[in-house]
Amino acid sequence: MKNKGLEEILEGYALPAKLGFGQTLAPVMFRAGYRNGGWDAGELTAYAPIRIDPAATVLQYAQQAFEGLKAYKVEQSSPALFRPELNYFRLLQSSRRMCMPAVPADVFARGLSEVTMALADFIPGGSGQSLYLRPFLMGTGPCLSVKSSDAFTFLVIASPSDTYFSQPIRVMVEREDCRAAVGGTGADKVGGNYAASLQATTACIELGFDQPLWLDPKERRFVEELSGMNLVAVIDGELHTPRLSGSILPGVTRDSLLELARREGQTVVERSMAVDELLDDIRAGRCSEFFACGTAAIVAPIAAVGERDGSVVELPRTGQVAAQLRSAILDIQEGRVADPFGWTTEAGDVAALTSRMRPESE
Ligand SMILES: *Cc1c(COP(=O)(O)O)cnc(C)c1O
Repeated sequence: MKNKGLEEILEGYALPAKLGFGQTLAPVMFRAGYRNGGWDAGELTAYAPIRIDPAATVLQYAQQAFEGLKAYKVEQSSPALFRPELNYFRLLQSSRRMCMPAVPADVFARGLSEVTMALADFIPGGSGQSLYLRPFLMGTGPCLSVKSSDAFTFLVIASPSDTYFSQPIRVMVEREDCRAAVGGTGADKVGGNYAASLQATTACIELGFDQPLWLDPKERRFVEELSGMNLVAVIDGELHTPRLSGSILPGVTRDSLLELARREGQTVVERSMAVDELLDDIRAGRCSEFFACGTAAIVAPIAAVGERDGSVVELPRTGQVAAQLRSAILDIQEGRVADPFGWTTEAGDVAALTSRMRPESE
């Protein structure tokens, strides 16, 4: 490692006994800056608070976009990333929506690679454990009139993490608030969507649920997703998931699970899913499983779907399809089986990472 200070920091670092998810922050980060129309090369630095202008557009107007992916070192001798190009392409899309410049492919690749490789010895190796990587981009130029910043900062921070949920989750149908609007930013991974979700999350937790289940913003009739996870129901033995409506975040996990299921010969249906029909299907036993999926939680079975008035429908506890898909994706991510899709890639190989991020391979 080039930087003497970083070596010392890493030598003095130890994983805490209890990891949790996203709770322990790794002692290094990657930082690149954009000003006067161009990006600098970026560098690995010690994890530390950053100086920011109080009038920065990210603080005033939420000009921000982020990604979440994991580095795995379970069966692998060196850390692996899972479909990182999809995170890159999605960050480009979110950045465009937020009027932010594209982070160059090689800067994004080096950011992931340098953070992961510096922390290679601290990636917990139990199944379901990983190094959670959080790349994000924000407007850091000061401007109180509402317009795009001309200075931006790209950071990659990381968290050695355990599994996200240990229990099946309880969700509450949110019929008042929306996290995303028609023509809004629901399909982009931006902090503002999460800010808009917090009130409903707080309310549902007070009522004994874990997360709100969001409906479409136009008619409030169709199931969309959870605040940070997509949804899949098993109905009459088929996988049904809300089609990407424009206000749903297109998850890498969602896409990968659907692909895995199709490969196993399962029927996958992407459609508009009316929430009241889904509740009827659960009550009638036609819907045998309902689960959430995302990078953080992988596959999280849903035990109950409730309403603000206290009514609840419970799902059977079997969860076979969810369990199978969870093992199938983890087997690939954690290097237990050959990867038939070419989804994994070595975190240490910056050239290979960068070439995956060329738009042609999209
Ligand atoms: C990140 C995210 C997901 C899951 O996407 P993955 O790429 O599978 O991690 C789903 N919904 C929202 C709103 C998200 O922000």
